[in-house]
Order: sequence, then structure tokens, then C-alpha cells
Amino acid sequence: MGFENQRIAIIGGGLGGMSFINAALHVGLTNVQLYEQAAQFSEVGAGINITQNANRILDRYGLRESMLKKSSRNLPCYMEYRNYRTGEYLGHIDEFGEPRARLLHRAHLLETLKERVPDSVLNLNKRLRSISKTDDGTAYRLFFEDGTSTEADIVIGCDGIKSVVRRVMGITDSPNYSGQVVYRGFVDYKDLPPATAQLLRKTVNFRGPKRHVLILPIGNEESRTARAAIIGFMTEPLEAWKSESWMSRSPNDELEAHAKDWCPAVQHIIAGLRKGSPDNKMMKQALYVRDPLDKWYQVNDSNKASGIILLGDSAHSTLPHQGQGTCMAIESGIALATILKYWKAQNHDLGAAFQFYQDLRKPRTDRVTRTSYEAGKLASSDNPDQLDEMFNPEVILERMRWIMEYDVLEDLRSRNASCQFLDLPQDYGQLRSTL
Ligand SMILES: Cc1cc2nc3c(=O)[nH]c(=O)nc-3n(C[C@H](O)[C@H](O)[C@H](O)COP(=O)(O)OP(=O)(O)OC[C@H]3O[C@@H](n4cnc5c(N)ncnc54)[C@H](O)[C@@H]3O)c2cc1C
Repeated sequence: MGFENQRIAIIGGGLGGMSFINAALHVGLTNVQLYEQAAQFSEVGAGINITQNANRILDRYGLRESMLKKSSRNLPCYMEYRNYRTGEYLGHIDEFGEPRARLLHRAHLLETLKERVPDSVLNLNKRLRSISKTDDGTAYRLFFEDGTSTEADIVIGCDGIKSVVRRVMGITDSPNYSGQVVYRGFVDYKDLPPATAQLLRKTVNFRGPKRHVLILPIGNEESRTARAAIIGFMTEPLEAWKSESWMSRSPNDELEAHAKDWCPAVQHIIAGLRKGSPDNKMMKQALYVRDPLDKWYQVNDSNKASGIILLGDSAHSTLPHQGQGTCMAIESGIALATILKYWKAQNHDLGAAFQFYQDLRKPRTDRVTRTSYEAGKLASSDNPDQLDEMFNPEVILERMRWIMEYDVLEDLRSRNASCQFLDLPQDYGQLRSTL
């Protein structure tokens, strides 16, 4: 049944690739190997928010306890909004329900995703250079920068927004600069005055003019991982960008210059960043996104059970204003793994399976990309002193409800009910029932 006997190669061991391999092993696709270019698995030093829609899936993989060990627990709300200049409370959004959003260091999320994956399927120092057909044309040969190569029937490109797999597929579009950079760093609660430390024990968004500063209270006291992760979204012209890559370290002064007339709490954050960074620098990243792609896959014309597909930022990158890039990759991972595993034998056509997957996922990921762009415009506002019918917490709550309450396997099962492409076991799916 399905494509479980095919050799599957995953390119990229970031949060998307590691989510997919968890999904593959969970459904019983065992002929998988993951290839990561770096010498070790690592993530940028920053916090991340994983929301209900994705936590349901990770819980199903049995990762709940591990994740909670190092993530926030029982935060009082999903997000609180404050005026940038006065610090005045503007309102908040309640949590969307169980399982609640979990805020943690990216490295801790990656550790959790690595926990159940055997070392034997993880290959480091494997930077993909190119892909060509095998001599008989029925599969692919993957060539790595270290001079080695391997064969696979199905290639899953989880290699991020600058994807090589995407290029191999002949996709030549360029990523778009969003107009904003992000300044990212951590502040220890002990480096803040007590009242500010208390305020930042929840997710707070200081809404400013074409800028906003978001605070994620990651981790917890028990595991000594509690810190305020700072993300300053600042509008800057691309011409001011000095680094050749999209990531650099910049003096804390740059963030301070953006926020010089902001409220005392933001000044405390900047002072806290200085205390925690011996070189007085923080991470600075130019925010790029790609336009949604028409087709996420290609099929080998010599073999109907062989092909290449994109997953995660390589397929559906988004601005981070709804905290959904990784969450979308987690949803996509379980959807693709399920389809590959349970695709009915009589339709042994990978193109049809890939198209079914794309039809399931693309409307949602396109909508997330579009609404995340809009959410960024609302947060970094032209007129931050005003709440209006577009920007107020009640409207924002409703804007995001469809994201959080979604159950990808329920969606998959209901689509399958009409076409019967998949032989899903009776008890398969229903992420909600695992809570
Ligand atoms: C400021 C900011 C805040 C964010 N906050 C959130 C949030 O709160 N919640 C959320 O869900 N999302 C968030 N995101 C989005 C999230 O970070 C991305 O969507 C996610 O990391 C994408 O994962 P990925 O594995 O697809 O790509 P990547 O993270 O880019 O990983 C790609 C991997 O592939 C490897 N690779 C690349 N090329 C090759 C090659 N040729 N050969 C082998 N390996 C290769 C890389 O080394 C890397 O490990 C945020 C993003 C930003 C910028």
C-alpha cells in the first residue's frame, strides 16, 4: 500500500525537515534518510511560538512532555497589546484553547524533534549540490558537496527559503524583501526592573509607527529556561543592509535608535539586552518571503512512483506575524506522510498523490501567507495611536481563530471521504481525540 517501499530522501534538517521525519516514522514510512548540510543540528538563537494547531500534531507523536519541559506553561493570554510610546494597555487576545501555545527556544524545539529519530537515518555534513536522474531514469541521484552521492525514489526538499531543491526543479523566482528587518535577542528576567519583568511574563506586543516590538516569554523557571525573547520588527530600506547574507549581528544601538522615544518598558528591554550581550550586539535579520508557488512538485516521467516535492519554507514561506511558518511545516509534514503511506495501491501514481496533497495544503498556506502580511501591516502601523475596526483585539482574535482551530487530519479524512484515494485505518486521525 502507498509509497512505503520507496526510498525517501529528506533534504534539510531544520524544523520543517525534522517535523517531516517525525511524521514519516509516526505513520510507518521507514525507508527514509535525512540529509542536513551543517555539521550538527542547530537553530538560530531565538524563541519560537508553536500554536495549538501544530501542538496537537506534536502531541500525537508523543512529544508533549518533552516539549513542555522547556517551554512556557499556562500563559495568562495569547497576546497583550500596548502602545509603544506610553506603554498603555490596549487590550489582549485570550488563548485559543488546549493545547495552548508553547513558547520556547528554537534549539529546545529541535532537540525535542530529534528525540525519537534514530541516528541511523540522520546524515550530517551533507550539503546537496544537485540532483539528476539515475542511469535507467527511474529514480534520482543526489550529489553532495563532499563528493558523495546517494539514490532516492522520492525527494522532499525541506531546505528552506533559499532551497537548492527548488532550483533543481527549475523554479527561478526571487524572494521579496518585506521592507522590515528583525532585531532578535534574549533578556534575563533578573536584568529587568521587577515591574517590567512581571509585565513581560506574558506575550506583549508594543505597537509602534511602522515598527513593533514583540516579547515572547519562553521557557520556564523549573528548567531554568525562562527568558524574554525579543523580536523588534523595524522598517528599514534594503540599501542600508550591509551583510551579504540575510543574517548578521548588529550593535544594540541600532534597535535603540529605532525606539528612542518609546516607553520605559522598552528602554528597560534595551538595557537588559546590553547586560546580556558582552559584545553589545544582537542578531539582525532581513525578512524575506516568496510569492506562493503554483506547483510544489514534479514527477519522474520514467517512473510514476518517483518524484520531488517541497515542504516548509521552500514551498510556503510566510512572514512571521502570525507565528505560523514552522506550524505550517508541522501540519504539512503529517499530511504528506499520511498521504504517502496510505495512498491506495491501485492508483500507484505519485503525481496524483502529490496533487491531492497540494490541493489540501495550498489554499491554507496561501491564506496564511496573505493574512500574515496583513497582520504585519496592522502591528507595524501607520497610525499606532489609534484602535480601529481593523486593529483591535477582538477582531484580531477572530482573524486568527481559523488558523488555531484547524485539524489537518480531520480535513484530510473529510476530503478522502468523497474520493477514497486513501486507505485510512478506521481509527486514524482525529488529533483532537488525543488530548
Ligand atoms: C523573526 C521570525 C520569527 C518566527 N517566529 C515563528 C513562530 O513563532 N512560529 C512559527 O511557527 N514560525 C516562526 N517563524 C518561521 C519559521 O522560522 C520558519 O518557517 C521555519 O524555520 C522553516 O523551517 P524549514 O525547515 O522549512 O526551513 P529552515 O529553517 O530554513 O531549515 C532549512 C534546513 O535545510 C538545511 N539546508 C539548506 N540547504 C541545504 C542543502 N543544500 N543541503 C542540505 N541541507 C540544506 C539548512 O541548514 C536548514 O537546517 C519565524 C520566522 C522568523 C524570521
